[in-house]
Amino acid sequence: MSISVQHISKFYGNQKALNNVSFTIQKGEIVGFLGPNGAGKSTMMKILTTYINSSEGNALVNEYDVATNQKKVQKSVGYLPEHNPLYLDMYVKEYLAFNANIYKVSKSRIDEVVNLTGLTPEAHKKISQLSKGYRQRVGLANALLHNPDVLILDEPTTGLDPNQLVEIRQLIKNVGKEKTIFLSTHIMQEVEAICDRVIIINKGELVLDSPLAELKNNQEQQIEVEFDYRIEEALLKRLPHVKSAKNTFDMTWEITFDTQKDMRSLIFDFAAENELRILKLNTKNENLESLFRTLTSQ
Ligand code: ADP
Ligand code: MG
Repeated sequence: MSISVQHISKFYGNQKALNNVSFTIQKGEIVGFLGPNGAGKSTMMKILTTYINSSEGNALVNEYDVATNQKKVQKSVGYLPEHNPLYLDMYVKEYLAFNANIYKVSKSRIDEVVNLTGLTPEAHKKISQLSKGYRQRVGLANALLHNPDVLILDEPTTGLDPNQLVEIRQLIKNVGKEKTIFLSTHIMQEVEAICDRVIIINKGELVLDSPLAELKNNQEQQIEVEFDYRIEEALLKRLPHVKSAKNTFDMTWEITFDTQKDMRSLIFDFAAENELRILKLNTKNENLESLFRTLTSQ
């Protein structure tokens, strides 16, 4: 097991930022930690990287206790903090060498991480001269210096433009082939693009922990359709993947399908075969984004 969180709570004074949160992450997984601003994501990540202590509960990273075995935990994790604090006046390689020295890693590892994160064309520049996307690469390179098993990335793509976003996501996916990755985000699409599993927190509480594939399979598709003629439910039930067909008004039906496949064209074919005309058709896709909104709306 790469990460094991058991009944973690965290108070800042009277304020409870995390409330009895538990989850585990297996080796090699890429897990998205999703929640709105203020949900407690950064707090959890700071606890897992030993920057702050929890108030209650315990957590293991690579089987090491974050409260009692901090050095071992720090060796096991690479951390990209929120807002990626970099020394802007330093040159890329100078900055990495500075940290390599702290971590006591060999100088040859610097070129390795520069290569790995696609920094080579910009490696001779000062950090202040780099775009936000390249600065994130420097942060990732830094997190990878000591070749940790686990990467903890706090909102690694926030503030990037669409091209940079795609590049950094791809980079994270590549790195994730060999490492366990726990990354936070407030965007569901990010989880869909990168992760195998999603853990959602809201107001310090865990509200969902599920593999992405399972969530997608559970997604239903609802289509509202109005025909020009009254028909029987049994006829509509001949459509593939129909879960239910409800006659909501006169010649209007709400059909629920248990598939992700777009069923609209099949409904048009169905109408043609049965000599019906479609007067109106609406899809009401219950997508992952709306699931996230539902779970985090209170
Ligand atoms: P997220 O990263 O999901 O946006 P945070 O973990 O940063 O959430 O914050 C969770 C809650 O704890 C927020 O309400 C925030 O205001 C509060 N908080 C975070 N850090 C501190 C702190 N150092 N002192 C007091 N409150 C804090
Ligand atoms: Mg945060």
